Amino acid sequence: MTQQELKPVVVVHGGAGGSRADDDGCVHAARRGMSEMNRGALAAATAAVVALEDDGRYNAGSGSVLCLDGATIEMDAAVMDSNGKLGAVACIQRVRNPVLVARAVADTPHWLLAGDGAERFARIAGIPPYYHASERARRKHDELLRKLAGAQAALPGVANAAFSHYWNYAAPPQFATEDGCDTVGAVARDGAGNFAAACSTGGSAPSLLGRVGDTPIIGSGFYAGKLGAVAVTGIGEHIVRRLLAHTVYQWLAEGMPMEEALEAGIALFPREIDVGIIAVNRKESGARSNKDMPRAEVSA
Ligand code: ASP
Repeated sequence: MTQQELKPVVVVHGGAGGSRADDDGCVHAARRGMSEMNRGALAAATAAVVALEDDGRYNAGSGSVLCLDGATIEMDAAVMDSNGKLGAVACIQRVRNPVLVARAVADTPHWLLAGDGAERFARIAGIPPYYHASERARRKHDELLRKLAGAQAALPGVANAAFSHYWNYAAPPQFATEDGCDTVGAVARDGAGNFAAACSTGGSAPSLLGRVGDTPIIGSGFYAGKLGAVAVTGIGEHIVRRLLAHTVYQWLAEGMPMEEALEAGIALFPREIDVGIIAVNRKESGARSNKDMPRAEVSA
């Protein structure tokens, strides 16, 4: 290692509100990321998220939760690096790896494609159709419907009745829906000092059709700049109001120690709002959440 070279590292998470029993999938994903590190931080972060999307235990890619109608799967994903690469997709359906579509968007004149346009773009980019409603997704959907039928708010701070009141799916509501708040993300630092963030989610249930959270929104769900990279997880509606990823990035850029910046980021939220943050800068890396959050870190 020359004096300029930094120690490569990949940090990944499997979603705030997930189970630490699923840390092994994160370790596998961080290793997959590290195996791509010779192609740079962006390739590493993207590969780690692909592994998490393929795992099936996390709310992203093949493990994505079902929308309230019990059939639709809408996903969001994003990538960004410290060299200005930026791509995202929102409300995309019928792809296995939304993060690969987001990576392809980063090579177009745009930064974010949504809905049908994003899916059509995926086909042009050679990404085949894929739809899989997993057993886990069906189970979670049933749990969510039970919650929506009950007295406790399925989405903290929102009356369950709001979902039938504003219902916008083609099929009628069948309440008797899931707080699918777990998602995936990765941040990476390569030896040349480049940083990247990548993230992907099946969304936070319950949600209306067309709902977009923080995951594909720059500065909210993710941020990467010359001084580091940050990816976050939690309830998007609360995260976007605090521009969480950029806020933490800025604190790190101003010299706040990693532990302190992560802690301060979590402290912006009331305890009942699930939130988790992973970050890397030139010297440090870390992960913090206010609920269980599967995670892993692998360095060279
Ligand atoms: N942030 C994601 C969203 O709101 C969900 C999550 O991180 O669990 O769509």
